[in-house]
Order: sequence, then structure tokens, then C-alpha cells
Amino acid sequence: MQPFEFVVADSPASARALVREVDGARYYAGGTTLVDLMKGGVETPPRVVDISHLALAGVTLRPDGVRIGALARNSDVANDATIAARFPALAQALLSGASGQIRNAATIGGNLLQRTRCSYFRETRWNCNKRIPGSGCDALAGFNRGHAVLGANDACIATYPGDMAVALSALSAHVVVEGDGGERTIAIDDLFLLPGDTPQHEHALAHGDLIVAVELRFAAAHERSQYLKVRDRASYEFALVSAACGVELAGGTIRSARLALGGVATVPWHVPEAEDALAGAAPGAEAFRHAAELALAGAVPRAHNAFKIELAKRAIVRVLESVCGGAA
Ligand SMILES: Cc1cc2nc3c(=O)[nH]c(=O)nc-3n(C[C@H](O)[C@H](O)[C@H](O)COP(=O)(O)OP(=O)(O)OC[C@H]3O[C@@H](n4cnc5c(N)ncnc54)[C@H](O)[C@@H]3O)c2cc1C
Ligand code: SF4
Repeated sequence: MQPFEFVVADSPASARALVREVDGARYYAGGTTLVDLMKGGVETPPRVVDISHLALAGVTLRPDGVRIGALARNSDVANDATIAARFPALAQALLSGASGQIRNAATIGGNLLQRTRCSYFRETRWNCNKRIPGSGCDALAGFNRGHAVLGANDACIATYPGDMAVALSALSAHVVVEGDGGERTIAIDDLFLLPGDTPQHEHALAHGDLIVAVELRFAAAHERSQYLKVRDRASYEFALVSAACGVELAGGTIRSARLALGGVATVPWHVPEAEDALAGAAPGAEAFRHAAELALAGAVPRAHNAFKIELAKRAIVRVLESVCGGAA
């Protein structure tokens, strides 16, 4: 590991100032992603700013929804009674991630900004445009079984690895960020960036911007929501594909639907075209498969990951069957 300065912040404002004044400085929340990357020499921040003790934890109930502090632990949020009852897809996504020990340390803000598990990114002997811009992408002609089929290009085909953000996309969450201009709110789908020509820029935050909270609104479709994760082993494994879905049912039809996919794209993949097709449809095999076909219509497989396309379609059908319950 490269030598670095470790500084403890005593307020959000001081944390931001301490990061802002050093190029490449990083926040330390739970450290479960950052320290791994530093040990591997993938990230070499000259300064690490400890924010873990700031008063930004907890789930706060509001009249129309909840505000989840950025430093709330993944396990605490998953086990919160309101989250489990009103946003089940979020609780399920959090509980499907990592291990109990990691979930106890990992925070909501850090989970959002976790970096890809592409092994060519995490091993410094390989070429990787995300790690060293312009160096090339060894995954293109390498072993790309785990890589993206949506939202990718020849600059980068890495998947966004997290579970929680996929559920948050299906739940229309907003992320609250403190920056130089004060506090601003970003729709979850606007937080993550497609690779374009700059795969090293993964999110819309400026250097020093601090995530302070995630906000969710109560809605019928959020209450009837689920997260389905398909992976190589039953626990302690990232998603090969995942699907988060919420529906509002009325009079035997789907009044509205929300659908997002994980494990298949460079960002959490929200699928409005499938949602539009589901709205007003009678729940059932035909509508579900149609939505799944639409969701994967633009998929581009690489040498080893074509199986993800059919797997994702089946995951969508399965999670729709599940959220529609007896109505299907
Ligand atoms: C073995 C293993 C298995 C895992 N499996 C899964 C899995 O199956 N599913 C899954 O979703 N995740 C998985 N993870 C990832 C894990 O969920 C993340 O490491 C964790 O959520 C990151 O949170 P943290 O608080 O530890 O972040 P940190 O490591 O502290 O920070 C991560 C990044 O976010 C930045 N950051 C942190 N907080 C803020 C903030 N408030 N504002 C702005 N920037 C911030 C940091 O500077 C850093 O760049 C796994 C991790 C490991 C090590
Ligand atoms: S897929 Fe992206 S992260 Fe992986 S090696 Fe290529 S550029 Fe790097």
C-alpha cells in the first residue's frame, strides 16, 4: 500500500474541505471497498478523510417517505421495520449483498459509490481504461463472462456491481449531496454515468461532494416490490443478473410498474420501455415475457456472456410473477 495521510473529520463541512484541498483524496466511510482497492494499488489516495463518526446515520420517518443517512450501516437499514414493510425490494437487495460482517460495516453512501468488480480493473498488471485512462481494455478480448451486455462500449464493458442501487432505481430514489453550492438532490438514475469516452468518471459527483442521504417516497408500487438476485453461489457473491420490480395493481390490471436490472449493465439499468408496456396490462406470462424482451432488446453480448440475456429475461419474468402474486 502507498503511504497516505489519514485525517478524521469532525463535521460534513470540514470533511468536504479536507477532501477538496488534496487531489485524489477520498472519504473513508466503512472502508470495505476503499481499503481493498488501496491494498491492491488500484487506488492510491494521498489523503483519506474519515467520515465514519459524523452524525449522518439513521432512518428518519417523514410524512411522505423516509430519509436514510449516508452513514447508516447496510444491515441497520435492511432491518429497519419501515424499510422492510414499505420498501421490501431495498431490504432484500441489502440483505443479498456481501456477508453479515461486511453489511455491518458498509454504509449507504459507500455502497452507492463502490467500484466495479471487473478483475482487469482490480489487477494492476492488466490494461484498463477505468484505472488508467487511454490504456485500453483487456476485458474486451479477455474472460468477460461477468461483464455488461447493456450500456457498454469498447472503452469499458464493466458492470456496476451493487445490489442496493438497482433497488433504489426501481424505487425512484433520490440522493442528497452536499457540495460547494450547498445541498442538491439527484435522481438515482442521474447519479451514475455511462462509460462514453471517459469510463474513469463513474458518477455525477464533483471532487469533494459528500453524499448525505438517500430519500424514498411512500407509494403503492414501492410497497409491492421485490429484488431477485441470480448468482453463482447462494451467498457472498455479486449478481450475475438481478431484477428489482415494483407494481401497483388495480382492478385486475397493472396500474404502474417500476423495473431495474443489475449485473447486466455498466450502470444500474432502469427500463422505462418495459414499464410502459406493463402499465395497463393484465398480469400474466404474455405481458411479463413481452416486458422482458423489451428490456433486453438492445443487449450486445461479448464472447462469454451471451447467457446473461436469457437469464435476465427469466429473472424479470420471475420477479414480476412474484410481485403480482395471485393476480398473475
Ligand atoms: C468480499 C466482498 C463482497 C461484496 N459483495 C457485495 C455484493 O454482493 N453486493 C453489493 O452490493 N456489494 C458487495 N460488496 C461491496 C460492499 O457492499 C461495499 O464495499 C460497501 O457497501 C461500501 O461501503 P463502505 O461504507 O465500506 O464504503 P467505503 O469503502 O468507505 O467507500 C467506498 C467509496 O465511496 C466513497 N464514499 C463513501 N461514503 C461517501 C459519502 N458519504 N459521500 C461521498 N463519497 C463517499 C469513498 O470515498 C470510496 O471512494 C462486497 C464487498 C466485499 C469486500
Ligand atoms: S471492462 Fe472497464 S473496468 Fe474492466 S478492464 Fe475494461 S475498461 Fe477496465
